[in-house]
Amino acid sequence: MSNPHPSTERTFVIVKPDGVQRGLIGEVIKRYENVGLKLVGIKMMVAEPGHIEQHYTLDPNWRTVTGEKTIESYKKKGLTPPSEDPLEITAVILANLKTYMTAGPIVCMVWQGAHAVKIIRKITGGTEPLTSDVGTIRGDYVLDSYQMSDTDNRAVRNVIHASGSPEEADMEIKHWFKPSELVDYRLVNEQIMYDANLDGILD
Ligand code: GDP
Ligand code: MG
Repeated sequence: MSNPHPSTERTFVIVKPDGVQRGLIGEVIKRYENVGLKLVGIKMMVAEPGHIEQHYTLDPNWRTVTGEKTIESYKKKGLTPPSEDPLEITAVILANLKTYMTAGPIVCMVWQGAHAVKIIRKITGGTEPLTSDVGTIRGDYVLDSYQMSDTDNRAVRNVIHASGSPEEADMEIKHWFKPSELVDYRLVNEQIMYDANLDGILD
């Protein structure tokens, strides 16, 4: 059985409430378009808290993994974590995420193209804006940190959600979009990016 062509990969993105308020919808779309990705679904909404909780827990291991990762990151910085129980840690993170993600309108999008998941994570930058690389969206447009968000007992404001793997993307796309809300179409640019022989340029 042959693998699907990399150009058919899809990923899921949310411009979070702070991104919408900061006027960054256009900038985010522009950066993903610039690299050659194709927008195949988009909608604006105010999310329900339950829908946000389901989104973050589509992966049944998310609570444990994120809790353990957070405890480790406290210890690496020489700080004492608020709890040694990963599930207690993620319960707080999840409550804060629900408040954050339902505070205003969000823009949900599905992007398609070669290695869409990894390319979008690269352009978006690392989760904590304080350490996101310069040149990424988070590195260039946000200054939040876990230190500040933990002090204020809120979620870190990092403007964007982007799926972490193709499997996560599949689950998230199904969670946020009906199949009829996604559009199958061809971009003329795709011939230049993907056609094996660059046929059709010369008369
Ligand atoms: P993402 O895929 O880049 O959004 O990152 P994750 O899936 O690992 O984490 C999801 C959310 O959990 C982040 O957007 C943060 O709000 C929160 N989070 C993850 N790691 C930490 C951490 O070490 N400390 C705190 N306070 N929150 C975290
Ligand atoms: Mg994630």
